[in-house]
Order: sequence, then structure tokens, then C-alpha cells
Amino acid sequence: MAATFFTAVRAVLGDDAIEHTDAIRAAYGSNRLPGGDRRPSGVVFPRSGADVQTIVRLANQYGVTLWPTSTGQNLGLGEYSPVREAQVVMHLGRHMNRIVDVNETLGYAVIEPGVTFRQLRAELASRGDTLMLSSTSGPPDGSVLGNALDRGAGYTPHFDHFGMLCGLEIILGTGERIETGDAALGGAKTRHINKSGFGPLLDGLFSQSNYGIVTRAAIWLLPRPPAIRSFGFTFPDEDDLAEIIERVRPLKLNNVVPTLIKVTSAEYGFATKETYPFDRTGGATPLPDALGAEFAAKHGLGAWTVTGACYGPSFDALEPTISRIRSHMEASGKATYVAHEQIAANPVLKIHLDTFSGEPTDSELGLLDWRPGGGATWFLPATPMIGAIAAEQQRLSVEILTRYGFERCVEFVCGPRAARALHILLYDRTDPEERQRMADCYAALVVAYDERGYPIGRAPTDWQERAMSRLPGLATVTANLKTALDPNHVLAPGKYGIP
Ligand code: ADP
Repeated sequence: MAATFFTAVRAVLGDDAIEHTDAIRAAYGSNRLPGGDRRPSGVVFPRSGADVQTIVRLANQYGVTLWPTSTGQNLGLGEYSPVREAQVVMHLGRHMNRIVDVNETLGYAVIEPGVTFRQLRAELASRGDTLMLSSTSGPPDGSVLGNALDRGAGYTPHFDHFGMLCGLEIILGTGERIETGDAALGGAKTRHINKSGFGPLLDGLFSQSNYGIVTRAAIWLLPRPPAIRSFGFTFPDEDDLAEIIERVRPLKLNNVVPTLIKVTSAEYGFATKETYPFDRTGGATPLPDALGAEFAAKHGLGAWTVTGACYGPSFDALEPTISRIRSHMEASGKATYVAHEQIAANPVLKIHLDTFSGEPTDSELGLLDWRPGGGATWFLPATPMIGAIAAEQQRLSVEILTRYGFERCVEFVCGPRAARALHILLYDRTDPEERQRMADCYAALVVAYDERGYPIGRAPTDWQERAMSRLPGLATVTANLKTALDPNHVLAPGKYGIP
């Protein structure tokens, strides 16, 4: 089936529209997850929305399944590799990487799937830096659109990347082209600025799903503030977490701090620069507390480090707000203030300043070298902004991770009501025993958090079908929608557990 599909794609779109050598299949099948590599049967490279339509129609005709991806940089979540073996990867980003428009007055850019954070940042700089994007702390060469569609998030006031998309252009599994919001009326002049048009809001159907391929959308951008002034606090003890969360919540609920506020564990910081000191532990894992404390001190980190940033007309104009935040945090009796200048001069803390300033950074990717063998998988539950609950979750995470021999490498990215508890789980993927241990550890974390009422959100591809099996109600309705939007199940069957 795949062979006749490849021949048909070649006949219509040209020889270079498809590749299916062993080398290409291996490259696009590799990932860092414990579930193992999953090779596609080939990779297609559309050049336009019309090409995407052609490929989807041929896939229907020849009974082939497609795995659409923009830049495949979602490290720790699956990268390019399809959710199931032998799906054909549709690599949108190779050719469809145009910034179609930037509207500096209304603050948005219209982009194709291959537009990366680095590329958009450079474009905005070349236009005089009046606008700022919200980037991730992941790869600068990741797709702005791909990240938003998977509901990845940032750290600025525009952290809700999916929420900042407007006017999605989508090819459904039937090959039909639709546009969302006001864009439904061809020629609407409000298509990139008004999402709440006529009828149901369809946009959400195309995030973490397999109903359509998004070929273009607007992403809303912030005016770049004249001054960005970060602040930080280190806290010495693991047990300070409950008090930190209680103090951070009102800063966000009352909108004192415009960015999200990060509460970062020492490991999440120093592991960006250090590698696991097997020589000093005699090969034992996880990292002994004393060595963790030594690395934390070396990099100017606390057991927890709290960071955020304020925006304003000048650095000095922000002084009263920073003082207010400082008094509030120092009233804990445990916080040590870290000034903006110290944050900017410390390579580990500078990562935070960059993310609050819409600067893509690759510094956090150092985490991937902490353990040999490059394995990484992300465990992503949400945490209510209640100190006692955050502390309970951390006791649970530490207990489970320690049992399986791994470090608790976590960052809470705090909003007013909930935080994203980014757990980056790092392991040696070249060691089969350790790989299995990480798979078991991930499952144990999901079960334990589920039991207490804290489910995962964004999930690695090797867990998506299992994750949906926990949610029978959602499974039924999402399967019914699939029948309507992609009746032949051509698009990524299995993605997020949708058939
Ligand atoms: P990034 O490189 O930004 O991390 P990816 O390209 O890896 O993003 O995509 C992340 C997820 O979003 C993948 O599950 C992929 O299948 C999905 N995805 C990415 N781009 C699109 C798109 N244009 N249309 C539909 N789904 C997409």
C-alpha cells in the first residue's frame, strides 16, 4: 500500500516530495522515550496547503496513515516519530516555513508550520524589535505552531501559546480545507484578530488531536516592553516549597507580576551544566543530597529558586514593584533575594530571564546530558497553587523517583490558580534495564497522581494511547468526532489515544 502511495505522490508532486530510505526512516523514527523508536514507512514534504490536500486525498485512496509534524523538536515527548510504527511522517516544516505577514500595529504574525522560535525572533528584531514573542525553554528550532498545537506553553503573559493562535487554516482528514473563527467567511478582514466569531469555537478541536493538519495561523505577539527587570529568591530547604507556593499565589492572582513565576528545583538548574558524578557515588543513583547541595551552591541556587520578571517604562520605574515583591517574599524569613544583575550574570539563572523576555535559548537543553545515553521523558501534571498540595505532590514524586533510581528534576511554572509541574525525567536510554525502569517509573507516577486527582496533560507519544484508556468518556466522544472529521482514520490514528 505504502509503495503505491509513494509512487502516486511522486507522480503528482515530484521526486523530492517523498523519501523512504532506511536511513531516513531510522532518523525520523528515533526519539528519547522509554517506549523505543518507532519508524515511519516514509516521509513526505509538502510545499503548500494544496500539497497537503493532495497528500491527504492520496492517503485516503491508498489506505495509508499520516503523522503530521512541523519541526519534530518536541524533545522528551516524541520528536518526529509517529505514535504507531509505519505511519508516513508528513514533515511540514522543511518547506512550509514562511512568515507570511507581521502586523506591527495589531501585534500578530501569520505563520506556516515550519516557522521556528529563532526565525520569528530574528524577524521581529529585523523590524525594530517593537514586538515580543513568547518562546519555550525548549529548542530554538522548534516550531511555533507545532508547540502551540500540542499545547506547549511559555513564560510571558502570552504563555498560553494555543490561546494566542487565531484564524487556523486546516486540512481535515477528508482533504477538505476549513478555517476557524471569522476566517470562515472568505475575505474576512478580522480573521487574525477575532476568534470569537459566529458559531462554536472549533479551534480547540485541533490541539492535541488528529482531526486536521494546520497549515497556517496567526500568533498574537506582545509589544516589547522598554524595560524587563527580573527578580529571584533562593530558599534553602526542600520543605520550603509549601510556603513558597503560598507566597507566589497572591503575586499572580493580584497580577503584581506579569510573567509566570518559576519555582525551580536545584536539580533542574544545575543539571543544565553538570553531568551525573558517577565517579563520586561509586555508580549509585539517585544523586545523594550532599552532592546535590554542593552543585546547587556552586551555581548559586537554592533547594528552590523562585524567578519572575516585571515589565515597565524603565528599569528604575520598576523599583517600587520589585521592593514590594521583595518584602512579600522576605517575610517568609527564608528567602535570599537575587537581583536582576546577578540573574543576568549567572548562566543557569539567565535561562529564566531569557524566557521572560521572549528570547529563545538552548541553555536548558544541557539537561539532556545530565545522564549518559540521552533518554528523556516529560511527566506533566498540574499543581493547584496550594502550598500543602504542592508539598504533598513533591513528596510523592521524590518517593517514586528515588525508588526507581532517578532524580526529582522539577520546575513549577506558576499561574494564579495552577502551576505546570514540569518533571523532566532523565535516564540512560542505551541501557535496556534502565529504559524499562524509566517506563515503569513513569507509569507509577501517572497512577499515583491519578489516585490523588492530579492527572497528566500533554503526554509523550509512547503514553498517549494508555493515557486515553483511563478516560472512557473522553475516548467515546473524541472517537465519534474522528468519524465525522476523518472517516477513514488517515490522520495519525492513536495520537492522544484517538483512533
Ligand atoms: P515542535 O517541533 O514545536 O516541538 P512538533 O512539530 O514536534 O513541534 O509537533 C508537536 C506535536 O504537534 C506533534 O504531536 C505533531 O503531531 C503535532 N503537530 C505539529 N504541527 C502540526 C500541524 N501543523 N498540524 C497538526 N498537528 C501538528
